[in-house]
Amino acid sequence: MRYAESVVDLVGGTPLVKLSKVTAGLSCTVLAKVEYLNPGGSVKDRIALKMVEAAEAEGALKPGGTIVEPTSGNTGVGLALVAQQRGYKCVFVCPDKVGADKRNVLKAYGAEVVVCPTAVPPEDPQSYYQVSDRLVREIEGAWKPNQYANVNGPASHYESTGPEVWADTEGRVTHFVAGVGTGGTITGTGRYLKEQGPVTVIGADPEGSVYSGGTGRPYLVEGVGEDFWPSAYDPSIPDEIVAVSDADSFQMTRRLAREEGLLVGGSCGMAVVAALRVAERLGPDDVVVVLLPDSGRGYLGKIFNDEWMASYGFLPATEGGTVGQVLA
Ligand code: PMP
Repeated sequence: MRYAESVVDLVGGTPLVKLSKVTAGLSCTVLAKVEYLNPGGSVKDRIALKMVEAAEAEGALKPGGTIVEPTSGNTGVGLALVAQQRGYKCVFVCPDKVGADKRNVLKAYGAEVVVCPTAVPPEDPQSYYQVSDRLVREIEGAWKPNQYANVNGPASHYESTGPEVWADTEGRVTHFVAGVGTGGTITGTGRYLKEQGPVTVIGADPEGSVYSGGTGRPYLVEGVGEDFWPSAYDPSIPDEIVAVSDADSFQMTRRLAREEGLLVGGSCGMAVVAALRVAERLGPDDVVVVLLPDSGRGYLGKIFNDEWMASYGFLPATEGGTVGQVLA
């Protein structure tokens, strides 16, 4: 019989699939690494597992302990899944702007969710940063992974994502493209690939974020871009950073679902736009690998909703022709 001992053993080992429609006219090969096939539905399962295992080894997380992290997104799901299987409790702290669906996913795995007001500065005792720090102090056996500064985030990608890309392309990968949030994916995967051969590493960043020279100006694509420089990010790894607009990111996200059968999130569309811009200048021997972090299921009410897209002016003229009439 062939089966995994636990769902945690299913983390990683995601496949590559060739993009064939959105790449029309390009001569190089563009392969997407499909991270929504992780058991928690995103690339973040990888860092969750590695951060928990390292904390266990260091004695920071002991049997019966509690994981406390300010997160509402994919990292929370990964941590909740690993914690549950290893017998830890989870308390996630998130701002009230986070939708009920996202909170309910965490609760479904058995995690506790503490909601804090969004409209307070980070130094306010009610802010979600302050509340998570207080909970770490007050809960006995509490441990905070802190994905923005935890070296085991990039390490998980150095040990799993990088070797998978290298092995699955049989060392033929020439370019690796990934969105930058905490910077863990690009830092760990990029470092590993550069040690194997002459691989060019490209970061994709929302316009307005610091990685592409912005000030942290708001953008709508989720999970990527920052208004500060996290220590999980090593700026010496990417050879280039490509800034992508929300409109371009979301339009490509919809094309990936309609044309490639990949229902993925907005940061995936963003990374593919960056990958295609790079691919335009490449030749038939080049192999571009672009990492797609999560699924589109979490964005049905936004990116895949014509009214939402139209309300921001994101719908291209060729798509959703009736929406203008509906809104008029
Ligand atoms: N896309 C999504 C949807 C994410 O949740 C994240 C993680 N914040 C990223 C991209 C970026 O990954 P990383 O934090 O490793 O830079």
